[in-house]
Amino acid sequence: MTVPAAPAAAAGLPYQDPTLPVATRVADLLGRMSLDDKVGQMTQSERGTTTAADVTTFRVGSVLSGGGSAPSPNTPTGWADMYDNYQRGALATPLQIPILYGIDAVHGNNNVPGSTIFPHNIGLGATRDPALVQQIGRATAEEVTGAGLDWTFAPCLCVARNDRWGRTYESFGEKPEIATAMTTIVDGLQGSRLDGPASVLATAKHYIGDGGTTGGTDQGNTQLTEAELRAIHLPPFAAAVEHGVGSVMISYSSFNGAKLHGHEYLITDVLKGELGFTGFVVSDWAAIDQLDGQRGFTQAEVVTAVNAGLDMIMVPTDWKTFVGYLRAAVQAGQIPMTRIDDANRRILTKKFELGLFEKPYADRSYATTIGSAAHRTLARQAVRQSQVLLKNAEGILPLAKSGGKIFVAGKSADDIGNQSGGWTLSWQGASGNTVPGTSVLAGIRAIAGSGTTVTYDRDGAGIDNTYRAAIAVVGETPYAEGQGDRPGSMSLDATDLATLSRLRASGVPVIVVLVSGRPLDIAAEIGNWTALIAAWLPGSEGAGVADVLFGDYAPTGKLPVTWMQSAAQQPINDGDGKTPLFPYGFGLTYSTTTPGDTTAPSTPGFPTATAVTATGLTLTWPASTDTGGSGLAGYDVYRDGLLVASPDTASYTVTGLTAGTSYAFSVAARDAAGNRSARSPVLAVTTPTGGTPAASCRVRYTTNDWSTGFTGTVALTNTGSAA
Ligand code: BGC
Repeated sequence: MTVPAAPAAAAGLPYQDPTLPVATRVADLLGRMSLDDKVGQMTQSERGTTTAADVTTFRVGSVLSGGGSAPSPNTPTGWADMYDNYQRGALATPLQIPILYGIDAVHGNNNVPGSTIFPHNIGLGATRDPALVQQIGRATAEEVTGAGLDWTFAPCLCVARNDRWGRTYESFGEKPEIATAMTTIVDGLQGSRLDGPASVLATAKHYIGDGGTTGGTDQGNTQLTEAELRAIHLPPFAAAVEHGVGSVMISYSSFNGAKLHGHEYLITDVLKGELGFTGFVVSDWAAIDQLDGQRGFTQAEVVTAVNAGLDMIMVPTDWKTFVGYLRAAVQAGQIPMTRIDDANRRILTKKFELGLFEKPYADRSYATTIGSAAHRTLARQAVRQSQVLLKNAEGILPLAKSGGKIFVAGKSADDIGNQSGGWTLSWQGASGNTVPGTSVLAGIRAIAGSGTTVTYDRDGAGIDNTYRAAIAVVGETPYAEGQGDRPGSMSLDATDLATLSRLRASGVPVIVVLVSGRPLDIAAEIGNWTALIAAWLPGSEGAGVADVLFGDYAPTGKLPVTWMQSAAQQPINDGDGKTPLFPYGFGLTYSTTTPGDTTAPSTPGFPTATAVTATGLTLTWPASTDTGGSGLAGYDVYRDGLLVASPDTASYTVTGLTAGTSYAFSVAARDAAGNRSARSPVLAVTTPTGGTPAASCRVRYTTNDWSTGFTGTVALTNTGSAA
């Protein structure tokens, strides 16, 4: 692809000098921009309504392919070509400011055919494995880069409090702790530097309280006290800000009747002020249209949104009207120029940090990572870890590979589209083998062993008592926002119930694999099933489900949500006094001696650091005082929230640290069944800047006071509260 040279007009200016600090470059560029340039940067249009010439004429700052977009190219090369075409339009403007291209890569680069489709967030929440989720972020970033793009509207950090909500599967779970821990995905997506290899800008969404609406209604109203909102829905965003997330998307929903898109207090005071978010805030798709409850948008709505603190507005279709309104509002003094400059500063800072001014065109070198064997292996591991074993009567699982006949049935047994759910190639997703990968059935056939006969009938017809087990893969068909709410029944559909009753009539034990975006109302059925696995929406690598069925991987997943007895219990969450079918955190494994034993060992004591050098230190901690359900097996050591080691005893020597860098350590205890305690209070240590030992070593107690001037060995004692 030929890349045009920069027009002479903009060459050699300070903002184009990559050796200058980003803030200096931004200030220089801002000083050269006209009002039209600034309005353009705040505009995000949709590809179907935008030509490259539009980008030039209107100085459009960002283009997207969103859920409701016109069909996009169907090859990675097509995407990269499309991106470059828009970028040429942007570079033909006098100041040559590159565009950002946004997409919803929410479980892998799910818009581009051939990509690896990872489990949706609810399954990742079941893994309780932030390091794995970080790796998934990295793989996704590589596949997004491979299609030429630089920005994804992920992660969704909603805390889903009512499973009737159709976006429950986009949530890591019902508690803020899970989404908070999984903000490691931001590190994966953005890499260690935004201008590093295959780094893409991440978006924490949807700020704030999208998962807390009354009745679980999508885009509804979250009715809580501010203290409750802060306790339940704010922590994941605070964590994402700490992880340096580059953008935040505002929620369609309202807080106590006030639309978030006009909520100056929550956006400007809390997010930007209190949390110190320095990236930019983007609206949701056409969301400003909803500010006054009327169809379409007015200049007044533009004023409300921008003054509330929105920096970029996603105006998919009538974006030219938006450009006119924003310009007119500024000229009429309805939006102060300081607000416009602040928005531009935030957007431009991310464009400079991404290195777009130096490398504006698609980086095609990552195209080979799309759907690569390495990424599919990672996805299969994620599938294994996301399976939650809920019932295993008579120890029927794991299935032996030693011959006999197995019957497989159910509408999702051979359907990668159902496995993948919404946001897969199309907005709402679709049934059928829409994307390459492995269905659960294909996984079973591959793994069952040559002596085992596997018979498949989607509806369960033809089964008789010569089979040793029937596996039924049933559940929900794909849906996304708007179409996924279940205000009424949350039961299995008639097709599934008919399949299950055919299997049951044969007298053969039935193992149910539930493919769904949330818990379903199964209390009336589960008594007929010998075993039950919640598979969530595992994505393209169905073989990971088979790995668990046949014991190649003993289940470790834990429920990220409370499982209702009946739909009438919704909302049901841990600690609310209702009696669930399965509690939050429940999950069996094959080595659990007492089924249902999920007692975790007690949390180990506060770690101390000794022998702190420029590149290493030794951590020790008081041993866990009880052993959990099945005996203390060891400890897990976390560095900056990521699992780094699993020592058998209460001490670990960390090496390979960087001089002069701050690290946070914590420890959890683990029992033989894989149950883990909560993590200990965090120990923060800054390694010396050189030499060993050094006087510049800084340590932090569990409060915020840093102490300096230690020499040699550093030992800390627990002051009682977590940092
Ligand atoms: C969704 C967002 C998404 C956006 C762009 C909206 O309808 O709520 O999650 O990022 O569309 O596709």
